[in-house]
Amino acid sequence: MLKIESVKVSYGAIEAVKGVSLEVRAGEVVTIIGANGAGKSTLLKSIVGLEPVAEGRVLIDGKDCTHVPSHQRVGLGVALSPEGRGVFPDQTVRENLMLGAYSRRGDKAFVERAIEREFARFPRLKEREHQLSGTLSGGEQQMLAIARALMSEPRLLLLDEPSLGLAPLIIKDIFDAIRQLRSSGLTILLVEQMAKQALGVADRAYVLETGCITLEGSGRELLDNPKVKSAYLGTH
Ligand code: ATP
Repeated sequence: MLKIESVKVSYGAIEAVKGVSLEVRAGEVVTIIGANGAGKSTLLKSIVGLEPVAEGRVLIDGKDCTHVPSHQRVGLGVALSPEGRGVFPDQTVRENLMLGAYSRRGDKAFVERAIEREFARFPRLKEREHQLSGTLSGGEQQMLAIARALMSEPRLLLLDEPSLGLAPLIIKDIFDAIRQLRSSGLTILLVEQMAKQALGVADRAYVLETGCITLEGSGRELLDNPKVKSAYLGTH
């Protein structure tokens, strides 16, 4: 479904992604783990067209969309739930959700159906439909960010550090939600620092270090890998 070939992304003189190749097949959950500043967010942004790719190719369903503008990629079935959630605090839960279906805003029936679907998936959001999003808890805001990304009915969901800044119990809820999304057939590319949980949910995974993939394997293989254990799992 997604293929990234030797992608490089730079911020001026800083090369944040240094020739990354990876693949996500339909129905898989693929995880990228890596430390702060490894280039994880930059890589996700390049997939949705929010950062320009300097070299290499991004293929969605075999179609080269390396230089397709961001707003047109929604039509290709890819949506990003960004790091830091990016919900609009002064807008209600419902209004934030509506923004997720912006490309289909003319189709009221589609938007209403999508809102009801996400409320069924995340009942806590339904209870808070008219609450300003800035007053939601961190976990609720994360659920909202995921629900908003799902509003456009993507086939590939990109999740950027959904556990960031959340308490352990809430992190468990987030990973439960990711498992449910996987069961519903959604393909997911998950970027995380919470390596243990993220590898636990992953069919396959990659380790990104200073802009380069240094390891890849099944989630299980990486959980058992001594280098991953010492660098990311805090065990030996
Ligand atoms: P984190 O988990 O801290 O978000 P990350 O793995 O997602 O880390 P990126 O945010 O992709 O890493 O950053 C990769 C590198 O690119 C870092 O060195 C960072 O300082 C740099 N960088 C990221 N965004 C910008 C920007 N807008 N302008 C300049 N440099 C940037």
